[in-house]
Amino acid sequence: MRGGPAAVVALAMLLSAGCTPSRAPAAVSASTAATPIPSPTPVAPSTTPYRSPEDRFLLHNKIYSAGRIPAVACKVPQLALQTQKEVQQYTNVMLGCLERAWKPMVARAQAEYFTATVYTVKQGARTACGPFRGKYAGFYCGTNFGIYLDWQQFVEDGDRDREYARADLQFAFAHEFGHHVQQLVQISSYFDMRWTAATGAARLEQMRRHELQASCFASAFLGANQQTLDLRGAKLKDYREAADAGDDDRPETPPDHGSHKSSTFWATAAFKAKSPSACNTWLAPAKRVT
Ligand SMILES: [Zn+2]
Repeated sequence: MRGGPAAVVALAMLLSAGCTPSRAPAAVSASTAATPIPSPTPVAPSTTPYRSPEDRFLLHNKIYSAGRIPAVACKVPQLALQTQKEVQQYTNVMLGCLERAWKPMVARAQAEYFTATVYTVKQGARTACGPFRGKYAGFYCGTNFGIYLDWQQFVEDGDRDREYARADLQFAFAHEFGHHVQQLVQISSYFDMRWTAATGAARLEQMRRHELQASCFASAFLGANQQTLDLRGAKLKDYREAADAGDDDRPETPPDHGSHKSSTFWATAAFKAKSPSACNTWLAPAKRVT
């Protein structure tokens, strides 16, 4: 396929590039929660250690303890993926599967669920987060819970490439949906704050923590749905190729999605665990998010 695995996870998260969610699903205000209120009377020591909202939502998010992702009835169409209509049709079905699987998880994380929408567009198209542009094949926009895909980057001609194209799109789409989950459980808001505050290499590291987590959520979903999605043999190999591809294959872009080594580490753990419990990239040492 065009660009091979390098093109696979070239996915952007434009939230940090100026798009802010129009409505925040959960109800904690960072400023209120972070401001200590002086008390004139002595207060009994709390048994719960104080956690800043940032720690609470990034490091100790309830999604990590939401359990296993359910296996859902998911019948993806065996389409050739040659037209916009086919890419749209395929991802609409995938969206239904992802929503059925993640909805109860988001509920267990005590966050409200909002539905996502897929838009298959071309480079330069208008989106709720500004024009679709650049090197990426897809991105998530928190403003309207929109998943935008440059459908032309997902179509293939040869028979073998068609097989891989489906695996590529499946993983890429599950990754973008991973950003939707991050948005719903408030991870994105706190990532956004960190990203804004950081510069240079530190900023790239925050970005990788966020992107590796979206990929990790994708692998957790695919692992939980291995049977329904028939991820065996060549299909399993194709999934792995898509999931393990990292920034190493794309020297022309900044190292913001994770190396092959880091991508493989999180993908393997999540596919096996079938749960976001394996996806706490915010608590991981720096060497795990290279
Ligand atoms: Zn991404």
